[in-house]
Amino acid sequence: MISKRLNTKITAMMASVITFFGLVTVFLVHMFLSQKINLNRVELIQSEINHQSSNLNRLFMTSINLANIVATDKSFVAYVKDQKKTLEVGEINEKLVNYNLGNNNLAIYLIGKNGITLASTDQSFFDQDYSFRQYFKKAITGTEYADVNLGVTSKKLGYYFASPIKSGEEIVGVAVVKMNPEVVFNLFDEADNASMSDLMLVDNFGIVVASKQEGVIYKSLGKISEDNMGKLLTENKYYGIEINALPYQSIIDDLPEVNESKKYNVMNTDSDKSEDLIVKKIGNFNFYLVGKINNTSVVGEVNNMGLKTGLTVFMTVFLAMVFISTIINKQLKPLGDLLILSRKILAGDLDSKNSVKSNDELAELGQTLETMSETLKHRYDELEKIVEERTAKLTEQAESMESTKLAVNNILSDVENVAVDLEKFKMAVENASDHIVITDAEGLIIYANKAVESITGFSRYSCIGKKAGNKELWGGQMTLDFYKKLWKTIKIDKKVFDGEVNNIKKSGQKYVAKISVSPVLNNKGEVMYFVGIERDITREKDVDQGKTDFIYLTSHQLRTPLSAMKWFCEMLLAGDAGKLNKDQTEFVTNISLSNMRMIDLVNSLLNISRIESGRIIVDSIPTDLGVLIQDVLTELDNKIKEKKQKVVVNIFEDLPKINIDPKLIREVYKNLLSNANKYTQEGGEIIVGVTKQDEEIISQISDNGFGIPVQGQSKIFERFYRAENILKLETEGTGLGLYLAKAIVESSKGKIWFKSEEGKGTSFWFTLPTSGVKAHDGQVTINS
Ligand code: ADP
Repeated sequence: MISKRLNTKITAMMASVITFFGLVTVFLVHMFLSQKINLNRVELIQSEINHQSSNLNRLFMTSINLANIVATDKSFVAYVKDQKKTLEVGEINEKLVNYNLGNNNLAIYLIGKNGITLASTDQSFFDQDYSFRQYFKKAITGTEYADVNLGVTSKKLGYYFASPIKSGEEIVGVAVVKMNPEVVFNLFDEADNASMSDLMLVDNFGIVVASKQEGVIYKSLGKISEDNMGKLLTENKYYGIEINALPYQSIIDDLPEVNESKKYNVMNTDSDKSEDLIVKKIGNFNFYLVGKINNTSVVGEVNNMGLKTGLTVFMTVFLAMVFISTIINKQLKPLGDLLILSRKILAGDLDSKNSVKSNDELAELGQTLETMSETLKHRYDELEKIVEERTAKLTEQAESMESTKLAVNNILSDVENVAVDLEKFKMAVENASDHIVITDAEGLIIYANKAVESITGFSRYSCIGKKAGNKELWGGQMTLDFYKKLWKTIKIDKKVFDGEVNNIKKSGQKYVAKISVSPVLNNKGEVMYFVGIERDITREKDVDQGKTDFIYLTSHQLRTPLSAMKWFCEMLLAGDAGKLNKDQTEFVTNISLSNMRMIDLVNSLLNISRIESGRIIVDSIPTDLGVLIQDVLTELDNKIKEKKQKVVVNIFEDLPKINIDPKLIREVYKNLLSNANKYTQEGGEIIVGVTKQDEEIISQISDNGFGIPVQGQSKIFERFYRAENILKLETEGTGLGLYLAKAIVESSKGKIWFKSEEGKGTSFWFTLPTSGVKAHDGQVTINS
């Protein structure tokens, strides 16, 4: 189980961390404690030594003071001076005893100038010669003395305090106080023993005179210098005693420098251990107190405490491990649950539920796992569904492929059928009198019938593979625009193109042909072939031209008599041939009106033939169409007013001036507007609009008049055609206006068309290229 492994890992980790820090703590505590205890011990000893030194100082001071008091006692002074003359020794001794206060001192005695004891509290001293004694020698020179000496006879140590006895300026003797050494020992006994392994009183030579350990008494702290050794022999201070050295050389050498307490760390060469010692001078006396710190007790104490701390740390580590292990087990339980959950999911059990119970991220993770598993299940289901659908689709596709295959087979057979059909078509048109070619989708001739040869002169087989309408054959006589338009109609728009084309025979003879090119599409709507049918209409054209010329000539010829008739009618009506009666006036008026119509007709015919003949002069100038329209409306104003019609003019604001022949285009507006006026009832509305769209200017003339019946709409631009509804109304007209308008618009590279509904109204539109119409030289102008 992961949780157990983790548990062990974490517990081990924590245990090592705790143990490590525990050990560090033990070490630090040990260090700190030993330092602290040492410090405390040093402080303690320090204060103990201070205390003992001040006790000793006080003790020594008492003794030296006593010696001074005794030395200044007048009776003693006199006694010593007179050499037993003043007082009896018994009295003096008695008096001395009175001075011997307490148990501190062993004896007080007075020594005469010669060194002989003259009086003493201790009778054994009486009459003894102490002239060799250091205390006598010093005091007799006038100096106070305080020191230790070994008793000559008693061999016991005594503390001697001597003061010179003066009679005036003369030193007459010495007063000596011998202090009891027990006092010092008692003091040492009282001293705190725990912290000190030893306490020693040392004289100015560095010789131990009192100690808690007897074995060190009369031993010097270290080797005594030769100088001092000489002095010691002279003074004979420790008469007959062999003085051995202790291993504290550094202290003995340093002794004269010691004043206040000083700490020493000395390597004890005997025990091979380092020892700490504190040395302090006692007041102004030549004595020193030396305290030895009990290091073993410190180390023991420290070790003891270290052991305790170590044990506590060990116990803490152990308990902490148990505790941590329990907590981790508890904390890792959700992790174990998570593991179980994820394993279930992994095994494909996507319905597993989250059983992790905790209030942390683990529960969230569990929830996420559960949601993930749900999502997975959902996706899995969806996927299965998709796979099912795809499988079904694939099956379907396989089936449809089968049917496509069938369809392809059918198409192939269709293609074969088409080829068969083509063959049949070829056979049918082989002997037709019209020139018929079949091209592929790119316009390359794949078949030409017999008539092609007879009409164009090109061998029908030489045409194969060549482009129809090309200069190589009979074509290429028209403008590039014409051929582009033709190609667009049949190839892109896939529509039939009808038109007239100028061609050239192999012999070089030009001819006009009426052509019709039809695209043949397959069932996908793609162009497979083009079928072109041409008929040489040069003859018809010639005949037509003949007709036009005839009309033109006759119309021209008619103009003169018609003008004369108009003139005579006006003269008759004016009474130039005598006043006409009512009937005569009416007849002549009718003649005049019919004559006028005849003139209109003739003018129209003339204009048409002028346009059609191409002899008309096109005089293009920049023209404002708005002004032109307004001009036409002014001309028609009477007629419009007569019928109370409303005229609305909407001209595109930024309409540029256009390069056209205003006389020709005026004719178009005039016809369309007069038609709107004629074929709209009284009170009707006429709307004239001009807009610009891309490269074209579009003019629109609309009315809400009688309209054009559906059956007449296809013939409206034919010559002399007038719709039935209009014929019934017997309005004036020739049926040539729209024909002329169309001829002018188309000769100006524009288009004209209309929309009409009988009884509702009619709208005519015509376009002019914004680039304008090229000027054209000719022989005649319109209405000339
Ligand atoms: P006309 O006006 O002299 O008859 P057009 O060539 O101008 O000759 O017009 C031919 C015919 O077209 C008219 O007779 C009329 O039937 C029809 N037509 C032309 N314009 C209109 C119009 N705005 N409303 C109704 N019919 C019209």
